[in-house]
Amino acid sequence: MSSSATAERTTATTAGARVEFRGLRRAFGDAVALDGLDLTVEPGELLALLGPSGCGKTTALRVLAGFERPDAGDVLVDGADITHVPANRRDAGMVFQSYSLFPNLTVRDNVAFGLRVRKVPAAERRARAAELLDLVGLPEHGDRYPHQMSGGQQQRVALARALALRPRVLLLDEPLSALDAKVRLSLREEIRRLQLSLGITTVFVTHDQEEALSMADRVAVLNAGRLEQCAAPADLYRRPATAFVAEFVGTMNRLPGSADGPAHVNVLGARLPVDGTLPDTPDIDVLVRPENLTVTEDPDGEAVVVSLSFFGAVSRVHLDLRGTDVKADLPSLDAAALHPGARAAVTPAAQAVLAVPRTRA
Ligand code: ATP
Repeated sequence: MSSSATAERTTATTAGARVEFRGLRRAFGDAVALDGLDLTVEPGELLALLGPSGCGKTTALRVLAGFERPDAGDVLVDGADITHVPANRRDAGMVFQSYSLFPNLTVRDNVAFGLRVRKVPAAERRARAAELLDLVGLPEHGDRYPHQMSGGQQQRVALARALALRPRVLLLDEPLSALDAKVRLSLREEIRRLQLSLGITTVFVTHDQEEALSMADRVAVLNAGRLEQCAAPADLYRRPATAFVAEFVGTMNRLPGSADGPAHVNVLGARLPVDGTLPDTPDIDVLVRPENLTVTEDPDGEAVVVSLSFFGAVSRVHLDLRGTDVKADLPSLDAAALHPGARAAVTPAAQAVLAVPRTRA
């Protein structure tokens, strides 16, 4: 993307705003999209909204954009209540999943569209469009039409258009999901670099957790219209606040366990401390990440190796532990010693684990 000089010029004109959702509620008939959502986006941060389909991510973004009115609750930007401010008077730029460029306008005119609506003089529009096309790495493409651009290029133009009015908040609604894997990866990095250089508060909706975890300062996990947890990616992964987050983010094993005293559990023959509280029920499952299991071939082991998937440095071993599916991630060199059908011993790392009520039979 563009020179840092250009980014700096634009930096001077965009300042990160603080965005607050307070008790947002929005229902569509019987479907409750937002059920009392409280969330703060800090100035200049990139916050990803993540969660299963239908959890309310898009609705939250649309409420912030002003396309959707909440039934209750408020939206504040830098402390000012904008809940009832119409979309066209909000200081937000938005990029959608579909490229949504005007097909009959050149790239330059697409970028400058909002400036024309605001009656910015032609020379200034042209200069600003050139600056933005430079910023998104397309300085030579102003005269083209959208159909002459690739999907990734069109999303860059959409990004330039969203930034043209120097919004204080950038809203990205699954902007990469229509792109092929390689373009997706490079645009992911470019959007993040641009966002950091501009310091613009950005809310990013995605159902792709890798995207959320790799790009965001913090990730807000929604479930059924409510916030489960909002934390930095590593904290979300290492210290999930709820069983839902623990199982939704990354891969997790659910292993049968039993309480052993007020703060320990027995699992896979090991006694481990419980992270948080022990559920008040005798039927508990213990949550263990695949990378926290070791597997060794052992004719007396309780598990059977089902299959191996090679991922490069690491391989995932699928095992059957008396009817429970278990996934373990091992260095590929160690995994090479295991063979489907072999009996194996599975051992958890000696560290605190989450214990949750058992949900299966
Ligand atoms: P996805 O990842 O599938 O896009 P999401 O987390 O973005 O899902 P929303 O699009 O916010 O979820 O939808 C939340 C709930 O509200 C869903 O049950 C959805 O069917 C419902 N919903 C959203 N918009 C409307 C609408 N305009 N009319 C009726 N129901 C709607």
